[in-house]
Amino acid sequence: MYDVLIIGGGAAGYGCALTLASVEDKFEWAKGRTYMMLDDGQSDILKARFYNLAGVEFGIGGDALLQTMQKQLANYQSVQQLPLKVIKIEDSSEGFKVYCEDGSLYEAARVVLATGMHSFDIAVEGVEILSHEDVLKPHKICLKHTDNIIRQGLYVAGLASGAKTMFAIANGEGAKVACQIFKEWTGKPMVAHDSLKNEK
Ligand SMILES: Cc1cc2nc3c(=O)[nH]c(=O)nc-3n(C[C@H](O)[C@H](O)[C@H](O)COP(=O)(O)OP(=O)(O)OC[C@H]3O[C@@H](n4cnc5c(N)ncnc54)[C@H](O)[C@@H]3O)c2cc1C
Repeated sequence: MYDVLIIGGGAAGYGCALTLASVEDKFEWAKGRTYMMLDDGQSDILKARFYNLAGVEFGIGGDALLQTMQKQLANYQSVQQLPLKVIKIEDSSEGFKVYCEDGSLYEAARVVLATGMHSFDIAVEGVEILSHEDVLKPHKICLKHTDNIIRQGLYVAGLASGAKTMFAIANGEGAKVACQIFKEWTGKPMVAHDSLKNEK
């Protein structure tokens, strides 16, 4: 049983996963929590070269950027990443059951949909698919939500939420959802900061 399962390993998925995992040993309320990211390898990042993304090598290719994020996340014990396609999500007494195309099943208290804007073909109750209105190309989709929450325990981030198609915006939305989950766990505003002052 994972505390949070993220579907989608693109800009939004990594923003969420890195934020969640980065507090794993910092706070009592975060210790022992576990996270899973499932992704079927179709991120828009793989089609792009980035000159306008702050803090990374100028003109970095999408494949190199994705690999960097995969390695960054692998630094954290609390999170696993698997190359799997999700086909169905069912409600359960403790949260959600997440079914994958290969027949595997994962359970989580919370699920974050970071599935991009191209299509949404996961069978799940209570998700309404809308047309993504903030893109140049036709036939793109997003999911109905209020402040990134679809319904209790089910969140959406990145282009799947209707965000503008910029890496930083999608990535920031993933981090925002993680901070929302921290707030639900702690009952107060919370962020994930690493401070130079605390280094030994
Ligand atoms: C050609 C091109 C050039 C671009 N150039 C720039 C640029 O210069 N600067 C910039 O800021 N942005 C650029 N972008 C936009 C940027 O890549 C996107 O804004 C960003 O990738 C969106 O992040 P996301 O996480 O919402 O979606 P994505 O990165 O697309 O990630 C969604 C992920 O969800 C996975 N997924 C979907 N359904 C399932 C499922 N059922 N099971 C498992 N996994 C699933 C997909 O495989 C994918 O990996 C460019 C995009 C393109 C296409």
